[in-house]
Formats: sequence, C-alpha cells, structure tokens
Amino acid sequence: MSSFQEIFEAIKSHQTIIFHRHRHPDPDAIGSQAGFSRSLKLAFPDKQIYCVGQDIGDLDWINTMDEIPDSAYKGAAVITTDCADQPRISDQRYRLGDILIKIDHHPDIDPYADLSYVDPAAPAASEIVYDFLRAENLPITKEVALPLYAGIVGDTGRFMYSETTAHTFAVASHLASLGIDINKIARNISEVTFAQARLQNLVLNYLHLDPSGAAYAVLTTDILTKAKVPVEEASVTVSTPGRIKDIIAWNIFIQQPDGTYRVHYRSKGPAIDKLAQRHHGGGHALASGANAKDQAEIKEIFAEVVAATKEYSEHHVD
Ligand code: AMP
Repeated sequence: MSSFQEIFEAIKSHQTIIFHRHRHPDPDAIGSQAGFSRSLKLAFPDKQIYCVGQDIGDLDWINTMDEIPDSAYKGAAVITTDCADQPRISDQRYRLGDILIKIDHHPDIDPYADLSYVDPAAPAASEIVYDFLRAENLPITKEVALPLYAGIVGDTGRFMYSETTAHTFAVASHLASLGIDINKIARNISEVTFAQARLQNLVLNYLHLDPSGAAYAVLTTDILTKAKVPVEEASVTVSTPGRIKDIIAWNIFIQQPDGTYRVHYRSKGPAIDKLAQRHHGGGHALASGANAKDQAEIKEIFAEVVAATKEYSEHHVD
C-alpha cells in the first residue's frame, strides 16, 4: 500500500488530475470524488482538475460531472475513489492517464492501480479522503465539507453501521462545524418519493424468511411497473428488511430491463462479500452486490446465504 505522502507527491507532479468513481453511484462515491477534487482545486488553482462518470441521477445536489475529451488524459494523474474493481469504474477511460491511483475502503480484490491507499476498516471512502486532506494540510472548506459529510452519512447509514467509530464522529463533527446544513443533507439522503415509500413497504409482502434468519425478496419488472418506481430507484428497498429483528442476512433481487437481476446482499453478522464474488460481484463484508442471470441463480445465491447464516448462528448466540 502507498502512503498518503507518496500519493500526494504524484498529485503535485501532475498538471491534470481526473477523478473517477463507481457506476450506480451513491453519496460516498460522488462525495469522495467531489470533496477530494474541490480541495485540490483550492490548493492548486493552476491545475486542471475534473470529475467524470455517468448516471449521477438525483445526486446532483452533491456534485456535477465534467465532460472531457480523451486528449485531457494525456499526462494526467487519474484517481479512483470508492471503486474496488475495474469493471465497476464509471467511464472506462481511466487507463488513459500517466498514473492510476486508487483510494478505497472495499477489500482490495483487484489491486489495479500504480499507487493505492485501501482501508477496508474505514466506513466510507469520504472518511479516508478527509484523513488524506488533513494529513497533507489541504484545504477543508464548507464546499469540501458538504460532499465528504454526505458520503459519510450515506455509507454509515447515518452513523449506524458497524464500521462507524469515534473517529468517524470526530470527522463528522469537524465537517459539521464548517457551516454545512447537516439537516438538509440528512433529508436529501433519507427522503424518498411517495412511490418509493410504498415500494419500501410492499417489499415486505414479497419477503421470504428462512428459519435460519436469512431472507430474500424478488422485485420483478412487473412489480416495479405497477409500483411506478423506475428500476434504478428500486434499491431504496434494500435496507428495509434490516429493521426486522428475526432477519440476520438478506438479498433483494431487482430485475433489470434485460431480464437479469441486480443482487443486493446485506448482513448483520455473517460475511457475505465472498458469496457475492461467486456471482460476479463483491463489496464489503456486510454489504455487497452481484448479478444473477435467472431464477436458478437466485435459488443458488439464497441457498448460499442460508448456509452462511446457519453457520454464523451456530457460533454466535446473543
Ligand atoms: P449495493 O447493494 O449496490 O448498494 O452495493 C453494496 C456494496 O457492494 C457497495 O460497496 C458496492 O460498491 C458493492 N457492489 C455492488 N455491486 C457490485 C458488483 N457487481 N461488483 C462488485 N462490487 C459491487
């Protein structure tokens, strides 16, 4: 792993810096990319600094993307944030630069970069970016604080998930002191449309609970069409089963326009990232994603989650 200092040296020695993040972005992907780039813009007004990637959806309150030609990559340092593996990097031109740098908090299953700082214990890539900016004395202003705070709130589930530490609160406290509207940020992250709220309840009707404590629901195109929720907004249902006491680990399968399924894995205990890797996916120990081609693969995935949940329950008695 590279040190912050080595990475900062590479940043200083390049005139163009281009930030990439993962596809299907969440607040941490956009926030880590935006916070880092904004701070560098303030520190190095003469450098060309860009954020790229597709499908920003309704996260444009955090940042907007730049449109750049391929020629902009000539001699550039390319930095990916929150992006564990190459197929998930949004805008596949990330290889066109002079050097590739990875800043991430997922397990390092695909060490694709020339320099990388990866800490799977960090609850958000935005927290790592904050630590980087502090360590290298880079500016942290209100405009830098907003995306970083949004990223931390997003990836910790509002400071609820297990990787949240006292340091996370210290970082959040500093960012909150810089004049950002933490109430508005929390609302932007947690508010849903009426149709999404209905779907969050509706998913409970489709939830199958196994005696092991594993559960799953399949949201087909038909269900989504009737609920009037666009497929890209259906992942709003993913955290709903976690509120149920009896549920230890779960899958939400969301059918895509091509008939395959995007798979969400969540867990309160058993590690599910290795299970997701078996199905062209990955992620964190307790939150991962993958793809399933058909009903047969859905069955296979859920059987694996049931087995992991059973094994976990045998060794953990609360
Ligand atoms: P999601 O269920 O889409 O919210 O994703 C949960 C976590 O798993 C995030 O950290 C994602 O970056 C990661 N993830 C989701 N889908 C994939 C995939 N197909 N391949 C690798 N990682 C993924």
